[in-house]
Amino acid sequence: MAGPRFVVFTDLDGTLLDHATYSFEPARPALEALAEAGIPLVFCTSKTRDETEHWRKALGNTHPFIVENGGAVFVPQGYFPFEVKFDRTDGGYGVLELGKPYAELRLALSAIRARTGIGLRGFGDMAIEEIAERCGFTLKDAALAAKREYDEPFVLTEPESLALIVREAEAAGLHVVSGGRFHHLVGASDKGRAVSALRALLAEDQGAVRAIGIGDSVNDEPMLRAVDIPILVRKPGGGFAADIHLPGLVLAPYAGPEGWREAILELLRSEA
Ligand SMILES: [Mg+2]
Repeated sequence: MAGPRFVVFTDLDGTLLDHATYSFEPARPALEALAEAGIPLVFCTSKTRDETEHWRKALGNTHPFIVENGGAVFVPQGYFPFEVKFDRTDGGYGVLELGKPYAELRLALSAIRARTGIGLRGFGDMAIEEIAERCGFTLKDAALAAKREYDEPFVLTEPESLALIVREAEAAGLHVVSGGRFHHLVGASDKGRAVSALRALLAEDQGAVRAIGIGDSVNDEPMLRAVDIPILVRKPGGGFAADIHLPGLVLAPYAGPEGWREAILELLRSEA
């Protein structure tokens, strides 16, 4: 293919997938255009490995993927024609582990709850039924979402106490990132670090690759900073996630998969 090579890193919830229905149908024309142009699409999500594999199957995606807010990068074995130093191999993937083990995050969440007296509920405190209800999932999908390895989603009974929780997490060497439905307690990992790790491998394989990133929430900002062309889709209400300011940010005309389709098609038109 002549001209610059591209790769697209995309968030799933509220971006490629509709916030409420989880449908990607409106994005289909743009998905097909990317496939036709031979441009890899890399999922970069707060979802777990099992959930992300479900969506890879649904979309027929065969590329590497990033899970749990950058906690790990999964690369199909043989994807790169050279030896990669993975942290482990697992079920046909080489895995780069960037996040903190889930058990440590659970202990830290309990400690923050005990110290502050603030009502914090993580996925590990919730029955599958509660996760299903909060996400609008079936019980089966909620069970996939509960299989956390590097990231603990949580809710706060007093939303105004978020700043205190963030300070407590930072004091413990951890971070809080906020997605469309939950706050997430994570280690030093974020979507941007994971994107950079994968970009380094892509560059080794193919030389310079221009990266497009597309997201909807504050937890996507590190990913958007780690790409050449950052795109933000609207929230269901029509506005944009607050406090995302970076140079060259492209604002999509619609929310979720409709915005995804328009922004990607426009980009392909302008680069053609
Ligand atoms: Mg999102």
